[in-house]
Amino acid sequence: MSTSVSDPLGIFGGTFDPIHIGHLRLAEEAREHLDLSEVLWVPAGQPPHRGGPTVSAGHRLALVRAATAGHPAFRVDPAEVESDQPSYTVLTLERLRGLHGAQRPLVLLLGADAFAGLPGWHRWQEIFSLAHIAVAHRPGFPIAAASLPPVLAEIFAQRRVDDPADLAQAPAGAVVTFAMTQLAVSATQIRQLLANGKSTRYLLPEAVIAYIHQHQL
Ligand code: ATP
Repeated sequence: MSTSVSDPLGIFGGTFDPIHIGHLRLAEEAREHLDLSEVLWVPAGQPPHRGGPTVSAGHRLALVRAATAGHPAFRVDPAEVESDQPSYTVLTLERLRGLHGAQRPLVLLLGADAFAGLPGWHRWQEIFSLAHIAVAHRPGFPIAAASLPPVLAEIFAQRRVDDPADLAQAPAGAVVTFAMTQLAVSATQIRQLLANGKSTRYLLPEAVIAYIHQHQL
């Protein structure tokens, strides 16, 4: 295997409606565990895989900015929010590959539920030639081959690597899993709490709670 030209860059996309501690711990534990130099947060504009989010893309972007502002290795990429195109991960990865060159290891971060849904994504098989994939364990979503769609289970078996250090040795193509602190929190749950006037304290960063109240989201 060739030596890497630079450190792996983590890429973390999502609707983030709103961003919560599950997202933040995923990114932080991926950064440490996979030795990522940075994590690029990419909030989706118009998510093609789900019903429309309840909050505008501009607010979701602002919430991601507020939540990640204090972290020196977190950066926010507004391109999907600012684009008129649908938010397809493969397009974002093509753009980032163009920006970072052919050799930079790119690591797409996914929760286990998102990984299991990959075969429904636009041009999904091309993602493996653009980036590595790192899959975080998430309560309720086993990563075992038996619980994945067969076509994905096969690719997982072929591409799986056990040592995160392997990600630095190639620009793309490997799949690694990692065990993050298990947090059974979801944006759906947060939206329900907010709708019912219940507390979201300690599930969301203080800055996110303040923004939600300030803008009455
Ligand atoms: P929703 O409940 O609205 O579907 P969500 O909480 O799953 O939202 P998304 O913005 O859809 O959040 O997820 C972005 C990424 O974060 C996905 O890859 C998802 O798997 C991952 N993720 C979200 N919450 C967790 C969690 N608690 N543990 C691990 N991964 C998570």
